Amino acid sequence: MKRIGVLSLQGGVEEHISALLSASAKCSMPVQVVEVRSREDAEGLDGIILPGGESTTISRLMERENLFPSVLKIRKIFGTCAGAIMLARSVEGAVAGQRFLSLMDITASRNAYGSQLASFEARITTVFGTINGVFIRAPRLAPASKDCQPMAFYGEEVVAAYQKKGERHFLASSFHPELTTTKFHEFFLKL
Ligand code: GLN
Repeated sequence: MKRIGVLSLQGGVEEHISALLSASAKCSMPVQVVEVRSREDAEGLDGIILPGGESTTISRLMERENLFPSVLKIRKIFGTCAGAIMLARSVEGAVAGQRFLSLMDITASRNAYGSQLASFEARITTVFGTINGVFIRAPRLAPASKDCQPMAFYGEEVVAAYQKKGERHFLASSFHPELTTTKFHEFFLKL
């Protein structure tokens, strides 16, 4: 059985756990979901989900728990919103001292669509069909290498991408798939 972690320091943790369990049932792939709060929790995972929330806080809490070295080693990582910012190789609008995993070849621009009040829901085109995308103080994501495959578009803009780097797999979305679909979690499970 696959062991998939959900970083559980802050943000949309419960929503990802439910989406993961529904995805597991839909693809008949049993998973053990591990809530990751400490280094021990992060050991031996097949993959981890980094939920949305606030990347400055996630960064600070990961540092406090000394989670960077263990999370950096996990082979499959799925980051949504703040989680996508944590994954990005370069980040615009980072605060001083903010630390990132910097694993995936995307550029993330924090809060690029505006403040909390400018959060929105829109129909977006994904490789799994059209869905509702929920954008909450979302970053703008731009693939920074041709190995990054777009997985979803909002108009012309890429709002989700996937990259295979050697034996490692990274999936990032600027919206919150866990709120409206299980398709991205199913894709992640099947990797
Ligand atoms: N704006 C937040 C950040 O920069 C991300 C928002 C979210 O994850 N919904 O971390």
